[in-house]
Amino acid sequence: MEKLKVINPIQYFTTVGEEIEDILSSNEISMDSFLSSMKWNDKELKSIMKISKSEAKKIEDFISVGEISSYILNFQNDYKSSKESAENTYKDNLKIYKKLEHLLPLLRNEFSDGIDVLEDISNFLGIDEESEILDKVKENIALYKISNFVPDDLNLYAWLRRGELDFFQKKLELYNKGLFTEWLERKEWKNNLTNLEYISQLPKILETYGVALVYTPYLEKTVFGAVRWFENRPLVQVSDKGKCLATFWYTLFHEFGHVIKHENDEIFEGQADLSKSSINKKEKEANSFAYDYLFNGDNLRKYLFGQRNKSVQEDFIHDMSARFGVNKMFVAFWMKKARIRSWTTKDYMPPFQIK
Ligand SMILES: [Zn+2]
Repeated sequence: MEKLKVINPIQYFTTVGEEIEDILSSNEISMDSFLSSMKWNDKELKSIMKISKSEAKKIEDFISVGEISSYILNFQNDYKSSKESAENTYKDNLKIYKKLEHLLPLLRNEFSDGIDVLEDISNFLGIDEESEILDKVKENIALYKISNFVPDDLNLYAWLRRGELDFFQKKLELYNKGLFTEWLERKEWKNNLTNLEYISQLPKILETYGVALVYTPYLEKTVFGAVRWFENRPLVQVSDKGKCLATFWYTLFHEFGHVIKHENDEIFEGQADLSKSSINKKEKEANSFAYDYLFNGDNLRKYLFGQRNKSVQEDFIHDMSARFGVNKMFVAFWMKKARIRSWTTKDYMPPFQIK
């Protein structure tokens, strides 16, 4: 049977019928004779949720245990009030579940021990009390110093949580900045910019240098990427916001820039445009790091912004690529930002999606 999204706790409570069944069996009274004396032959005792005062009296006469009728009626009243509060909890939990349901893909198949899917999700989030999930998430996100955008707290919390879980599943060497820098400088990645197989291998490659690279699908109102540090190792987490391969590489090298230049800093990239000039010193440093590696410096970007809003011929992109020594995908990336129009720009903007 498929697991229930949210379990109604009332199903764990004993009904009055079940309780009577217990009384019968502990007094060794035959069920059949009881049912026929009550004229309940067509009923299943378990499924009886309510009995009347006169029925309770009849039961007492039949079983001949003193006070049993008032015991049964009290039991029935307790059940009724438990049922009400169970129904309320159930309704509340359903509402919470609806707010969390879209996070299910982030659980992968790692969280399945819960009694219902809601508990699986709260296990993933690491928050025990389901009714407290939204408050706890808010508190937690407030601890991060995010100044450059307003995130969706729940989505960002879940996205970051997936990153942490992946970090701790990795077999990471100690972080070795020297070896990581050497790898960046060797530029094998440069021959593999559109090689999706290579991109999927990158996290494995970087484990050797103690760099945890994690890909997590984008969630609404979260980030392009983030850098955090655990156990003296960087966790570089990248999303597929924009579903664009050039954006992915740009984000990746921007984050690598933070790793190399801003050790132990927590960084969350929520800006719609990482290239905005209104950003702080650290962001500029991370940008220029990415520019040097991916765009051969900042001349291409400056040139293209000088040509803003123009329409150009098909060969423009090839000319720019040759002139500035930059991959056509990145020429197209900046042309789009500078709103330079050409029929072929789209052909040089491969899509990118994290599964
Ligand atoms: Zn940044």
